[in-house]
Amino acid sequence: MRILIIGAVAAGTSAAAKARRNSEDAEIVIYEKDSDISYSGCGMPYYLGGHMENEDELTPRDPAFFKSKYNVDALIRHEVLSIDPEQKHITVKNLQTGAVFADAYDKLIISTGASAVVPPIQGADKAHVFSMRNVNDTRSIKAFMDQKQPKTAAIIGSGFIGLEMSETLKSLGLQVTVIEKLPQVSPALDADMAVHVEEYLKQQGVAVYTDADIREITGDAVILSDDTRIPAELVLMATGVRPNTALAKAAGIELGVAGAIRVNTRMQTNLPDIYACGDCIELFDVVTGKPFYRPLGSTANKTGRIAGDNVTGRDLEFRGVLGTGIFRVFELAVAHTGLSERDAKAQGFDTVVCHNTKVDRPEYMGGREMIIKAVADRKTGRIIGAQIVGYGGVDKRIDVFVLAITAKMKAEDLFHLDLAYAPPFSTTKDPVMYTGMILENAIHRDRKQVTAQELDQIMQSGEPYTLIDTRVKAQYDAGHIETAQSIPHAQLRATADTLDKDRITITYCNKGVTGNATQNILLAKGFKKVYSLSGGRKQYQKTHPKR
Ligand SMILES: Cc1cc2nc3c(=O)[nH]c(=O)nc-3n(C[C@H](O)[C@H](O)[C@H](O)COP(=O)(O)OP(=O)(O)OC[C@H]3O[C@@H](n4cnc5c(N)ncnc54)[C@H](O)[C@@H]3O)c2cc1C
Repeated sequence: MRILIIGAVAAGTSAAAKARRNSEDAEIVIYEKDSDISYSGCGMPYYLGGHMENEDELTPRDPAFFKSKYNVDALIRHEVLSIDPEQKHITVKNLQTGAVFADAYDKLIISTGASAVVPPIQGADKAHVFSMRNVNDTRSIKAFMDQKQPKTAAIIGSGFIGLEMSETLKSLGLQVTVIEKLPQVSPALDADMAVHVEEYLKQQGVAVYTDADIREITGDAVILSDDTRIPAELVLMATGVRPNTALAKAAGIELGVAGAIRVNTRMQTNLPDIYACGDCIELFDVVTGKPFYRPLGSTANKTGRIAGDNVTGRDLEFRGVLGTGIFRVFELAVAHTGLSERDAKAQGFDTVVCHNTKVDRPEYMGGREMIIKAVADRKTGRIIGAQIVGYGGVDKRIDVFVLAITAKMKAEDLFHLDLAYAPPFSTTKDPVMYTGMILENAIHRDRKQVTAQELDQIMQSGEPYTLIDTRVKAQYDAGHIETAQSIPHAQLRATADTLDKDRITITYCNKGVTGNATQNILLAKGFKKVYSLSGGRKQYQKTHPKR
């Protein structure tokens, strides 16, 4: 059997390795039009930032490695020009010699990945404007920096690559500005979580412009449509990717969301013996079951393995993904999995949301606060999404949520998890468990939460409400939500009977714990509609800085 693979980064090489593990007899050939194979694209910002001694650490494998370890022929600088599904062959051009030839397959795997999107901005074709998708892009950026020694940089786009690069460029001594056209940075997060990231970036000395409309890139600046001039001797476009599917489309292969190749759970396309995997394919969401496009290295490796398994007659099946992502910017870790509140609402879920601020381990062990925003489905009680921003242990917590969502666990199940505890690692009740408790209380025990946005809606609705600041008077005097009255927790039992029990009543403290305690008191005293402000005033202030 002859297996041909197009593209040799994460998905293609994973597919080749798995196919070889399954079959010693197959002939396996990978065609790659670029000069590098099987590299760590994810490591490129860290290579530029000086975390690797030399470039070899980024590109640890070459065709000789694939030949000796896997008996796979990886032909670089070979571009596949077309696929003929009828004749079952592909046309290949050797980019070094110019020779064009046909190669026949029994099974074909398309792993052509994705390419950086460059928006049509005037000046985007200038020599100091870069994208960062492959090792050659990275080499170009490095060479430019070595030669021109830029002092200022603008990063257009604030997804994980843009923000990782803001750290890299800042650490190399450049003055860095992040420019985002949306009203928030880090578009995968809900706005009320992204605000933590934006605030932190600014604290690190990275300038941030959101809602920004770029008019032009000049030789040394990015000019916004309101005439703001952002100094930029280097410009990085981190504006997303689109799947490389022209080859597949021309061959009659069905495309789906975002123009990505539609595959079944075995990575089969609609054409016989043609498979696809990696950043060029459409995926499906574990929570909704719906197709979506989420190009990530973790998934490219997984889908590559599944394709490799199936072309060799085995039956590994894809189970969908949650779109889980994590990145670090300076010391801040940012992670998300499953549906954001925004996406869950758009999908028609009746969401229950909480913001839980807790230390990742005791303060005496260096613990620092993390904020977990979790989203549950009121109807089923299931956890459907989580976002975490913090300094320590964010990776472990997000992976617990990944497991919980994948296993269709309910909010109340989180409390029962026997999570590892010792002071260097966690608190006795882990922040994940607290999150489950808050959500369970909201879903089943009438301890409802309102988000800052929902509080705004109540305030603007014209319906009478009572907003209680439960902190001590000195904290209230130092600043409070404007229509709140001060009733410190210790005085609430004595004062509660003077309040209207039929009114919507919202309590808040600093982070949510005392707000919840007062909510309990009011409910016990017969108040009908009591809410606690999710994440307390601290979270509210992030989206309402003046209050
Ligand atoms: C800076 C950066 C940081 C990242 N960090 C992370 C991270 O932290 N975590 C994470 O999960 N993901 C991360 N990613 C994403 C990850 O790198 C990609 O998801 C992964 O590389 C996808 O692998 P792939 O093999 O599907 O596609 P690609 O990497 O796009 O490779 C496809 C290959 O196919 C070749 N090809 C295309 N057409 C042809 C043709 N006609 N003939 C021959 N060859 C062809 C291309 O030249 C390319 O080399 C990052 C990406 C970047 C750029």
